[in-house]
Amino acid sequence: MSNEIVRIGIFICNRYHTCAGGKCLRSLRNREGAFSLYKGREVELVGYTTCDGCPGGNIEYAPAEMKKNGATVIHFATGMLVGYPPCPRIDYFRRYIDSAFGLPVVVGTHPIPEKYWTIHSALKTWDSPMWQELISHVSCDPETRLAYN
Ligand code: SF4
Repeated sequence: MSNEIVRIGIFICNRYHTCAGGKCLRSLRNREGAFSLYKGREVELVGYTTCDGCPGGNIEYAPAEMKKNGATVIHFATGMLVGYPPCPRIDYFRRYIDSAFGLPVVVGTHPIPEKYWTIHSALKTWDSPMWQELISHVSCDPETRLAYN
């Protein structure tokens, strides 16, 4: 595994534009949720912004600034997965960022809070192979999800 610092840019759903980033930053510090990918590695947050609201115009521009600031990977915040409804554009956005900027995208940041897990399970929101793959880094175990409620 490379010892290079992992430099991370985070996009959040504009629905949560007033979010102070507490859960994302906590999980980054603790290497939980999607950030467990970087256990034992040094990380640096080099960008944090919103998509600027549907249909997500800032996805077209902000990755360039993140890349200029050293980003080696982009994360889509867990809020994009747990809103009611979740962002319908996640898959397109990640393919766009990879193609246009050559940056890998990881879907998710902090563990899914249990309260969202319960409702989305009832709604069967994620009952498809694509959504199962999209939530795979942040589904975690019940105890961890409760800790992020
Ligand atoms: S649903 Fe998607 S495009 Fe709309 S505000 Fe949220 S992240 Fe942006």
